[in-house]
Amino acid sequence: MSILESVAALIVSGTMLVTNTLNTACPQNDPEGLLLVNRSWRISEDFIPPTRQANVPGQVRRLQPHVADALEEMYAAAKKECSVTLVSVSGYRPYDKQERIYRNKLKRVRGDVEAADAYVARPGTSEHQTGLTMDVGMRSLSSDKNLSGAFGDSRGGIWLRDNCWRFGFVIRYQEGWEEITGYSPEPWHIRYVGLEAAEKLHENNMPLEEFLLLERTAVMLELLSQNQESGE
Ligand SMILES: [Zn+2]
Repeated sequence: MSILESVAALIVSGTMLVTNTLNTACPQNDPEGLLLVNRSWRISEDFIPPTRQANVPGQVRRLQPHVADALEEMYAAAKKECSVTLVSVSGYRPYDKQERIYRNKLKRVRGDVEAADAYVARPGTSEHQTGLTMDVGMRSLSSDKNLSGAFGDSRGGIWLRDNCWRFGFVIRYQEGWEEITGYSPEPWHIRYVGLEAAEKLHENNMPLEEFLLLERTAVMLELLSQNQESGE
């Protein structure tokens, strides 16, 4: 059964199943699965992953060890393949730091919660707390151009967009996905999902939320068809 057929069948099966599937996509319910953190799926204040400093230029270079390995490999490839020096702008961010950043943003936009939410994740809703995420910059760009659309248009940004999947990363927030991810496009924000998922996400050009929902849907349909078979 194709993924589309699966989804169609699921819709026919009723909204109860959709709700269940979404619940199953919650990382707390599935420690083996891909971690999903967004405005709806919050991560606990106590989630403190093991981290190490990635051996790359830049600041806030801390990531989960296996992610730091992948990042180092990717930065070396960027240098070799397009002579670009990528830097680390912001990696692992603990809950309390996220809290400070959010409060400061809120102050700058004079308490406009909607404006603050558009750019800064509330504490517990930032992927940076997972240690799986890095904001990537380019050394030759000024600091105000990194973390802006200018990075996306730069040689480094274009290389990152086309190649990060080869190292297990995805560009998490892209144009046209705002309603699903809850964020404006951020061509600098990469998330580690592992080689297999990164390749699928890249090929299908879909956000992590959609991917997880489809994966979980397929699992649930499989279970359903097993139940039906055993009931016949
Ligand atoms: Zn980020």
